[in-house]
Amino acid sequence: MASEENPINHPSVFSPLKQRLNPKQLLNAVPLRTIIVVPFICQIFATVGLVGYLSFQSGRRAVNDLAADLMETASRNIDQKLESYLEVPHIINQLRFTDFQNGLLKTQNIEQLYQHFWAQKRAFESVSYVYMGSIDGGMIAAGRLPDGTLLIGGTDQFAAGDYQIYKANEQGEKTELFKVLPDWDADNYAWFTKPLEEGKPTWGTPYKWTGRDVVAISAGRPVYDVQGDLLGTVAVDLSLSEISQFLQTIEISPSSFIFIKEASGELIATSTNTPVATTEDEKAVRLTPETSQDEAIQLAAQALDQAQAGWESKVSPELLKLDIDGQPHFINTVPWQDEFGLDWRIVMVVPEKDFMGQITQNVRRTLMLCLAALGLSTILGIITARWIVQPILKLNQSAKDLAKGQWNTPVMAERNDEVGQLALSFREMAHQLQSAFNLLEDRVQERTAELATAKEDADNANQAKSEFLANMSHELRTPLNAILGFAQILKRDKTLTRPQKEKVSIIDRSGDHLLSLINDVLDMAKIESGKIELVSKSFDLVALLDSIEDMLSLKAEAKGLQLIFEYDEDVPRYITSDERKLRQVLLNLLSNAVKFTETGKIQVAVKGRPIAASTVASQSTVSAVNLTFAIADTGAGISPDELSQIFEAFSQTASGRQSQQGTGLGLAISKKFVELMGGQISVTSQVGEGTIFTFDIRADLASADSIEASLPTKQVVSLAPDQPTYRILVVDDRELNRQVLKDLLTPVGFEVREAQNGQIALTQWEAWKPHLIWMDMRMPVMDGYEATKQIRAHDKGHETTIIALTASTLEEEKTIVLAAGCNDFVRKPFRQGLIFNKMAEHLGVQYQYEVSDKVDTVSESGTTKATPEALEVSMAKLSQDWLQNLSQAATQLNSKKILDLLESLPNEFPMVKAWIIEKTNNFDFDQVSHLAEQALRQMEAV
Ligand code: ADP
Repeated sequence: MASEENPINHPSVFSPLKQRLNPKQLLNAVPLRTIIVVPFICQIFATVGLVGYLSFQSGRRAVNDLAADLMETASRNIDQKLESYLEVPHIINQLRFTDFQNGLLKTQNIEQLYQHFWAQKRAFESVSYVYMGSIDGGMIAAGRLPDGTLLIGGTDQFAAGDYQIYKANEQGEKTELFKVLPDWDADNYAWFTKPLEEGKPTWGTPYKWTGRDVVAISAGRPVYDVQGDLLGTVAVDLSLSEISQFLQTIEISPSSFIFIKEASGELIATSTNTPVATTEDEKAVRLTPETSQDEAIQLAAQALDQAQAGWESKVSPELLKLDIDGQPHFINTVPWQDEFGLDWRIVMVVPEKDFMGQITQNVRRTLMLCLAALGLSTILGIITARWIVQPILKLNQSAKDLAKGQWNTPVMAERNDEVGQLALSFREMAHQLQSAFNLLEDRVQERTAELATAKEDADNANQAKSEFLANMSHELRTPLNAILGFAQILKRDKTLTRPQKEKVSIIDRSGDHLLSLINDVLDMAKIESGKIELVSKSFDLVALLDSIEDMLSLKAEAKGLQLIFEYDEDVPRYITSDERKLRQVLLNLLSNAVKFTETGKIQVAVKGRPIAASTVASQSTVSAVNLTFAIADTGAGISPDELSQIFEAFSQTASGRQSQQGTGLGLAISKKFVELMGGQISVTSQVGEGTIFTFDIRADLASADSIEASLPTKQVVSLAPDQPTYRILVVDDRELNRQVLKDLLTPVGFEVREAQNGQIALTQWEAWKPHLIWMDMRMPVMDGYEATKQIRAHDKGHETTIIALTASTLEEEKTIVLAAGCNDFVRKPFRQGLIFNKMAEHLGVQYQYEVSDKVDTVSESGTTKATPEALEVSMAKLSQDWLQNLSQAATQLNSKKILDLLESLPNEFPMVKAWIIEKTNNFDFDQVSHLAEQALRQMEAV
């Protein structure tokens, strides 16, 4: 099984999240497979471990017992051997003792003694020498060297003197002199004197044999004749090397060893084939276990001494378990004594590992078997767990698939046990779920279809609304075109009286207002149907702000309000954005500010913040700017509860409703427009203190070259001299609209003809070849599109400029119109300046403009800009006294006097009044006095 399938193996188990789980949660997170396998393995581990441990322990006990038994047996064998071996010399002595006592042997019969001793030596091969010392210090001996050489010898007359030793043959006959020990006396030897002193059989002190690393011991006994007189000492020499040889034959365990030492310390025999005596500086030295050449004996003796000081004095056997060189050893110490004074200690040393080796091997084998069993049972456990878990995992997977909505995943149920039954129940449940889901899905589809129909209906309704609004707007704008057109034409009429001109102005302004209302409603409709779009072009921002300032300064002045425009130095002059929308937003906010402010001032602050270079901009644009506009007034303010709704369509505050002006659309439209221009609008207000509207837009920077020429501000009076006679065809199904254009163009000097539909226009065009056609696009019989196409299809069709006139406000209309073949596009209602401008643009027409001094009061009371010329003209109409007073007050920098003078100024000079107030407020007294002086000079000149 791949380990990553197992969450326990997954690294995330150790992540901080998992670590926060309590033990119970952790246990719950353990996968089933682990839960099945792990206890199984643990049980086997425990059983195997226990069995191994117990068998090891019982093995060890058995080893202890076995070691003790073996050592006891060995000890018995040694005891027997020692007894049988060491009794021989005493038996020989006993025999001679008896023979002397019975008179069978006599010291006088030396030859008999030689033979007897020789016979004894040959009878008891285990002994080395059979000999006797006489009370005269003499010596008779028979023996054999370790190399097998037979020896026989003695002193002369069995008395002290030269001791002659001969090699002998098998029969005991002297063959060759071996060695002579001169001046020999038995009295000098302990083997002779000690038994005599003690008066009983006794052992001599063990001694090293000359020339050999072997220890021998002599057994001596005093002998008496028939009369009981002391004859001397009979003795037998016994080599103890045979004991060592015997010990070597005893094998308790492969590495066991035995040594025998005297209670006094020196070694008697070892099983290790190492000497028990040696020669140092030509002196015989006997070895102790501590000085033994065998390291094992040394270590064992040290361990014994350390564990039990004075152990040699113990009289009963003792079994010890000691560590020698870090290894456990069994050590058995057995005391051995005989009636003739020997006091020895037999030490048997058995390493535990000799027995445990087998046991350990057994345990290892058991462990190996256990491990094999463990491995096998683990594999079996895993297979079993898999067998149990696999279908559950498959079920789990199926459940997950079902949760994902994959109904086609088959649910496995190949088994008949509980898991199989679970799978069957699961399959049934899945089927039920599927049908429930299908049912649900059907319902959802039904509902979706219903909703789609509802949406379609709503869309249709919306579409119908939009169409209605578009048509309405078209229908409204068309007559408005006539109203505004004629009003403008009438304003040019010199024959009208002033009251008549004022009324015409009122018609013009009301028409304008109506147009802006229609535009608002239409904009809102477009916003709601999502049809509003950004129409970006490059324009002069400063000029836009100036024109807005101009437009509103009069209204502000009229209410005695200060209108202050402040620009940050980062505000660029030329930008690319939707000029119309920006103008509309600014006009709307400023008109509201003026409308809802009675005293104080209105401040417009514009700030620029350059932002990263734009990639979509034209060549001249290197970067973009974020512009922030803040319009602050000191007016009525808006209460907090109304503040949240003012950006909603048709919402007006109490003061708004009181004013009985407006529709409540302005702010809603402004908000949308600002958002469209990539910004946000917000408001803060304090009732009774004022309101601040702030909005920002994102605009690309533009250059002066990309700015379209603006409309001429001066009135066109006639064509410039030497201009050709331009033939202009006006095509419109509405007579009034044709009339407006005709009345506008004819007086200037254009030759104008009319056509009420496209069909007639075509005929006219063919017959008359006009220079330019003003083409209405919506007409019965043949519309403007068709007429344009047909003209353009003609050979000379391109010689005529066609400019579309449309009451539609849709942006896409422009594209359609241009695609139909029109050169340009003008919306109705139009401003007459635009009509003249377009003709100049397309035909190169040049005009003569109205001379400044002919501007009358009516035009001043309109929206005419306060140009120096206009001001001069107006000032020239004022009284000389008034002008002199003004000049004087301005030279004296006396603003109060200037304002007093303005009080007496007739009402028909609002432009002059507003201009003077502005300059006075800005302390531009120079300009005021300069203008007054100029007007005075003009008067004088006249
Ligand atoms: P309208 O001005 O056509 O009524 P707007 O959407 O422009 O519609 O304004 C909505 C309302 O918000 C106004 O009627 C007026 O109640 C309130 N309002 C807007 N601007 C101001 C302002 N500067 N001070 C006080 N109230 C304002």
